[in-house]
Order: sequence, then C-alpha cells, then structure tokens
Amino acid sequence: MFETRNHIDGRWVEGPSTLPDINPSDTREVIGEFAQAGEDQVPEAITAARRAQSQWQWSPPETRYGALMQIGNALMERSAEFGELLSREEGKTLPEGKGEVYRAGQFFTYYAAEVLRRMGDLTDSVRPGVEVLVSREPVGVVAVITPWNFPTALPAWKLAPAIAHGNAVVWKPASLVPASAAALMQIIEDSDLPPGLVNMVLGSGRTVGEALITSPDIDAITFTGSLATGRRIAEAAAVNLTKLQMEMGSKNPLVVVDDADLDTAVSCAVNGSFFSMGQKCTASSRIVVTRGVHDEFVARMQAAMDRLVIGHALEADSQIGPVVDEHQLARNLSYIEIGRGDGAELVCGGEPLERATPGHYMAPALFVGGDNAMRLNREEVFGPLTCVLRADDYDHALALANDTEFGLTSSIITTSLSRATHFRRHSRTGCVMVNLPTSGTDYHVPFGGRKNSSFGPREQGRHAEEFYTQVKTAYVSAGQAG
Ligand code: NAD
Repeated sequence: MFETRNHIDGRWVEGPSTLPDINPSDTREVIGEFAQAGEDQVPEAITAARRAQSQWQWSPPETRYGALMQIGNALMERSAEFGELLSREEGKTLPEGKGEVYRAGQFFTYYAAEVLRRMGDLTDSVRPGVEVLVSREPVGVVAVITPWNFPTALPAWKLAPAIAHGNAVVWKPASLVPASAAALMQIIEDSDLPPGLVNMVLGSGRTVGEALITSPDIDAITFTGSLATGRRIAEAAAVNLTKLQMEMGSKNPLVVVDDADLDTAVSCAVNGSFFSMGQKCTASSRIVVTRGVHDEFVARMQAAMDRLVIGHALEADSQIGPVVDEHQLARNLSYIEIGRGDGAELVCGGEPLERATPGHYMAPALFVGGDNAMRLNREEVFGPLTCVLRADDYDHALALANDTEFGLTSSIITTSLSRATHFRRHSRTGCVMVNLPTSGTDYHVPFGGRKNSSFGPREQGRHAEEFYTQVKTAYVSAGQAG
C-alpha cells in the first residue's frame, strides 16, 4: 500500500534498522516495519536537497502552483484512505483522522494560490535617479522536524510554504507516526516536484534529529514539539547561527465567567480538554471559573464526561480514542498521582480503561480544588487531564490565566462584549478565542504563541513568509535616463 522506507534524492531507501509501527487502539496490530535512517544518510539528504533547491528557486510561479495543487488535491481526494491510516497509527477518531488529512490538503492548495499572489516592493531611493526593489528570496535548505500528534497536517503546514517560497526540505517525522509520513511522501513523489526537493529521513531525535540540527549545511530549522527538545535545538542552532522557528508546549486556559452561557462553556471545555485525548498543543489544560458559576459548571462537566464514549479509534461511536502509546499513558497516570499528591481533588476519570481490544485507553480526568502553583497546572502533560481553578472574579481569572510560562492559546466564555474585548486585549497568548474552545485554528491566518510556547516568526497564512524567505534590497541606478 505504501513504502516503509526513507525517501532521499527521489528514491525510497533502506536504513540500518527498522522500527515497528503499533496501533494504539489494538496493540496486537503492527501497521508496518519502518526503516530508520542512519546518521550518515542525513548529509546525503541535505546534498540532494541543495542540488534540487538550486534549480527550484528559479522555477516560475505556475510550476510551483501546479505541483502544490497536485499534492493538495491528492490529499483531499485520498483523505478517507489516509485518514483511516492516521487514526490507526495515532489513535485519534476516524472523523478527526480524515479531517486532518483533508486539512493538510488545504494547506497545499492555499499556498499554491499564494504563489501567484506574491509581489515585491518598488520605491524611489533618497538618491535621485536610483530605484530600490525589496524582494523575498528562499532561505535554502530547511530542516523540518515534526511531532506525532498531527502526523499529516503539521508537516503540511511547514512543507507547503517551504516549497511555495522556493526552498528544499529535509523532513524528520516523529517515530510514532511513520505510516502517515510515508503516505504524504508518496503523494509528494507522485507530484511534479523535482526529485530531492523534499527528502524524508525517519529516525530518532537522538540520532537523525541531532545530525540535522547540528549540520552547518542547513539554512533554517522549523520545529514543533516539546519545550525540552526546543531548548536543545535552539542550542544547536546557535552554534551555526541557523535561522530558527519553533512551536512548543502550552498550558492553555479556558476562562468561564459568571455571565457565561454554561452549555457553551461545557461543550468548549470537553472539546478543548479531551478530544484527541488532550494531545493538542492547544488543549485546555486549565479551566479558570469564577465562583458564581464554579459549582454548577463542575457538576455539568461531570455529567458531560459521563456521556463520553472512549474506544477504538476506528469504531463509529467512539468520540475519543486511545492515548498514543504506553509511555504517554504512563505519563498521564503519573500526573493523576502528582495532582492528588499536591492536594487537588479528582472529580472523575483518570483511570486506565479496558476495551474489547488491548489498547492504551484512559478515562479523561477532571480535577478541582487545585491552585495554579501545582505541577498539574504548570507543566504540560499532553493528555486528557484538566483542572478547574476557582477565581474570585474576572480580574482574578485573567491573572490566573496569564500566570504561566507558556502562551499559545486562551479562551473566554462570556456573554459580555466588553469582557470579551478586555480579555482579547489582555490575554498574553499568541491566539485568543471568544466563546470557542482553545483548540481549532484556521490555515490562512497566523498561528503561534508567546513566552515559552514559541520562538521565531509565526507559522501559517501569509506570515509564514517571514521564516521561509529572506529579504533582498536592491538599489538600481537608471543612469542618465533616470
Ligand atoms: P518531542 O519534542 O519529543 O519530539 C518532536 C520531534 O523532535 C520528533 O520528531 C523528535 O524525534 C524530534 N527530536 C527529539 N529530540 C531531538 C533532538 N535532540 N534533535 C532533533 N530532533 C529531536 O515532542 P513530541 O512528543 O513528538 O510532541 C509533543 C509535543 O509537541 C508537546 O509538547 C506539544 O505541545 C508539542 N506540540 C506543539 C505544537 C505547537 O504548534 N505549539 C503543535 C503540536 C505539538
């Protein structure tokens, strides 16, 4: 059905070892044995990318448009097939898997259209007879390093603008989701992109990842993953002064105030905290509720959580699938103990679940009675756990929401326009939502965070050009004619 190898210089190639890809909904199922690249294959991929990029950077807009449209359309056409594959290996439900692959296609078609809209600036110099042209050129060879939680959409939101702006790529997907990576790579191979423009090297962060980030031959690194890995990548990038963009963890607050519509609040909280097993950088891992509605909100949350159906990702009635692997499940369960140990009260969930198939199932967990200093409320867990923090009033809620080292997304549930406006302006996050879950963003507008959630220019929409291009200022004297 798809290749299980690395893709270097237009060819599928073996590596020195292989790694099994296991279905988290049914751990008896091995989806495939995927070749892991050796460190020595990384320079080969970089050389191939450099060669391809030297041609691609001069490609006319319609050539880029055509190839990006092919990839985007193929992803949308095959979203059912590849969405099922994604759900099998990552564990998100089938509608989420299909929706993600479709969305990945939209990133490519969006950037295809953007290629045709690119313009430069022309202005007069302060010197008579001289014109100044400000244009954008590709950065060159970009290392793309991606996590496992959005196996197709996340690489797409990096690969599409990289290609659109004339760059070549060496992409290292996360080890837990090689099948989705290979599926995307197959679609790229089937397009008119030149061989070697996008190279895929599977392997661990310790080996293949390190070889990429420490290479002086990489012009730019775009990374999404954990804060710890981000810090290591920033260190490596500093040595070679490699251009860098990073999106990392968060501790996103959903604020519910006394004037909130509680049906909206509960639906946003359940969606933002637990869908995709809370394995979203935008998940609501803190829910800050003012005291007038605190108890009623908690009671309604509990009732809503009782109705959640957790099961095999491919089963039609499953609303939430399994946790991605045994390590993440163990981590989630350890935070249940950490939360309890610190004095928070577990209202419901938090235990492993048995289903018809052996998988990493867990009941989403709701804590109350915690304070914002607890580890549960400061550290990113990346699982279906959230804690309700009681606030005295809106000002207190805002202060709690902002009291974190992270700053990706935030949301307020309110019926007051002035409160919504105040929150939108005072929330110290890169993305802010009103009467919506903290997760769920569009592809045509910038995405990114503040503080330890992000580093470097924004991703997505037109803002992506800041990272994937470099600016050239040309002074042209028209001589006597000027
Ligand atoms: P991770 O940091 O463990 O791994 C991310 C990627 O980095 C993987 O491909 C991994 O192999 C690679 N890597 C690890 N060590 C490396 C090294 N030394 N050098 C180079 N590459 C290395 O993260 P994860 O567990 O795959 O994903 C979960 C994390 O991703 C969470 O913290 C989550 O918040 C974050 N995330 C953030 C966003 C966002 O946009 N802010 C989106 C999705 C996920």
